[in-house]
Amino acid sequence: MIGAGRGRVVVTGGAGFIGSHLCDALVSRGSSVVCVDDLSSGRRENVAHLDGEPRFELVVADVTREIPVEGRVDAVMHLASAASPADYLARPIETLAVGSEGTSKALHLAAESGARFVLASTSEVYGDPAVHPQIETYWGNVNPIGPRSVYDEAKRFAEALTMAWRRTHGLDAGIARIFNTYGPRLRPGDGRVVSNFLVQALSGTPLSVYGQGRQTRSLCYVDDQVAGLLALLDSGHAGPFNIGNPEETTVLDLAHLVLEMTGSRSTIEHHDLPEDDPGRRCPDISAARRDLGWTPRVPLVEGLSRTIEYLAPLVSSERG
Ligand code: UDP
Repeated sequence: MIGAGRGRVVVTGGAGFIGSHLCDALVSRGSSVVCVDDLSSGRRENVAHLDGEPRFELVVADVTREIPVEGRVDAVMHLASAASPADYLARPIETLAVGSEGTSKALHLAAESGARFVLASTSEVYGDPAVHPQIETYWGNVNPIGPRSVYDEAKRFAEALTMAWRRTHGLDAGIARIFNTYGPRLRPGDGRVVSNFLVQALSGTPLSVYGQGRQTRSLCYVDDQVAGLLALLDSGHAGPFNIGNPEETTVLDLAHLVLEMTGSRSTIEHHDLPEDDPGRRCPDISAARRDLGWTPRVPLVEGLSRTIEYLAPLVSSERG
């Protein structure tokens, strides 16, 4: 199994935020990487530093149409999808297509190649959870016709399809449920809470707290997330596994922490809570700790300060 991740790995969504860090990690541990991305939310600049690296190739393609990869493939890691609520709410039909058609094409590629398959699923499969913290055996509480369903149900379908391939064709497949992840290469205008608050604090505009800010999230630094995905790739386990950091915080506390860490004088402004916004979210990661030997290591303050280092120059060049 160790061989899979050391060989030739296709990463769909490889120019995205998590995908590009995953490409970096794979290349640096000796794999050849084919990054397939349509650059709709991924960005060429996220992988520009890999230009000229003989073990890296960027293929610009929409995985709902085709995954044009020839030759040997040892693993397929399927991350392609809009993931920020702002992005998937703006492209609802495309999001459903990538979760269904895109996942189907990625599974076919893995099956034809005899490759290991890793699906990047999401904590959103739990919807607005009635069980806390969320454990993998919990089936979730998703509004199937609400605005967020385009993402939640696409990922739930992707999980179902992956398990059907595993059961029917014996495909060597595993599922990671990714919880909120942050770090360098978050797009400044991505719309997610960490990038919004940091950009707002660094530019001196009010922090947009949705609702009272009592809802919670548990934020995982991107390097930890990538280590979890690689541990799943190497393991041969099916999962699903929650991959996230169980350090839970309210959105309002996060806003105050961002103000403190940036030394910003921004105020806090409350906005309407988006429809179906999950009230609490925190992963139970005992399965990943036990079966994958994985645990997140980067504390929130440390991860935020690395993210500030990345965003601060972007914000000041925008203002300048
Ligand atoms: N949120 C917020 N202000 C923002 C962006 C998000 O208060 O500018 C809240 C949002 O309502 C949610 C949490 O932060 O409760 C995380 O939102 P995000 O869009 O990052 O991801 P989600 O976990 O909802 O997919």
